[in-house]
Amino acid sequence: MQTPEPYQPASIYAPQGDGDAVTPRVFIAPQRYIQGPGVLDSIGRYLTLVNVRRVAILISDRGRASEGPRLLSSLDSENMDAVFCRFGGETSIEEIESHQAELDGRVDCLMAVGGGKCVDAGKSIAFRLGIPVVIVPTLASNDAPCSAASVLYLPSGVYSHFEFVPQSPALVVVDTGVVAAAPERYLAAGMGDAMATWYEAQACLKNPNGINVLSGRPTLASAAMGEICAHTLFEHGVAASSAVRDRNVDAPLEAVVEANTLLSGLGFESGGVAVAHGVAQTCTSLPGIPERYHHGEMVAIGTLVQLALEERLDETAKVARFFAQVGLPAHLGQLSIGTGDAAAMGTLIEGTLDWPFTVNMPFDVDASMLRRALFEVQEIGESVVTEVGDVAYRRLQDG
Ligand SMILES: [Zn+2]
Repeated sequence: MQTPEPYQPASIYAPQGDGDAVTPRVFIAPQRYIQGPGVLDSIGRYLTLVNVRRVAILISDRGRASEGPRLLSSLDSENMDAVFCRFGGETSIEEIESHQAELDGRVDCLMAVGGGKCVDAGKSIAFRLGIPVVIVPTLASNDAPCSAASVLYLPSGVYSHFEFVPQSPALVVVDTGVVAAAPERYLAAGMGDAMATWYEAQACLKNPNGINVLSGRPTLASAAMGEICAHTLFEHGVAASSAVRDRNVDAPLEAVVEANTLLSGLGFESGGVAVAHGVAQTCTSLPGIPERYHHGEMVAIGTLVQLALEERLDETAKVARFFAQVGLPAHLGQLSIGTGDAAAMGTLIEGTLDWPFTVNMPFDVDASMLRRALFEVQEIGESVVTEVGDVAYRRLQDG
């Protein structure tokens, strides 16, 4: 079993010359994105585009029980063989390497079927096996499916590091019927992750030295995707949540699934990330937080902190109001973080300052600015919750 050299996009896209080369604009994307109710039943036909004969399906026990039979039947109709491998639940190096050992030389494509962690593990396993990856998200809870990067965690769930892979997914297939059957909290978490996209892309675009996740400059295309993503959420987010409660696939749900998955995925990867994700990734090192909250819920708070840091307090209140309406945390207290907890505040500030993409902000960020922004988010969020109520938040957290 051979493990490829770690891949860093900077080695390809960043200027390699003697300092006078210009950082190029870089945009990457999966080869095909397919979304609609029932598309899983045609997965075999879509896979004929990738030219494979033997597919490994990375999936949890629960996913296998619900989606396994239809996946097998569709692959079988195209004379493709499939082998299931059980996703254990964490995107850790340990889990990735054990699947690499199990599948080495046995398959010519890996299909990852599940939530964000399964999808990211699939990309890292396929990279080690040197085969294409096909992503089948069963939740619209995050923007992992379209990117060529995995967020790796320690087996305990604490954030470890980013791993980049050179190839974007060959196919991303989103069955909105499956997404609509998942609990509402997942769709809301995806909206929390997606809402950051436009604000983080704006920071990178405004800062002449801002770079995207690939170490290139953002394109106008990725900024436009981030912008339409935010507009789509503001317009259809509340209706999409109610569609999921009714297990109904309708136009608002289709729009929000595309925003959470495609627009946010392309938007963050090629548009760049900034403080919102720095705060979110730091939250995973606070005791009890990664076990209780989704990535998108932490990003929601991160987005509010970034907006307060930019002194856009009206926008902070507008976004907090949207979060309260769809059941996302609107202040730190709703993420179980007390502003009076000096240790937690210190960790959040230090972690965000250490986050490699905090320098994408169009101004220098220091500890006192971050501290002020954290307190402002608490104050604004509390007044928004007084105004909007916490019915949606309670429903999702208690559900
Ligand atoms: Zn994210």
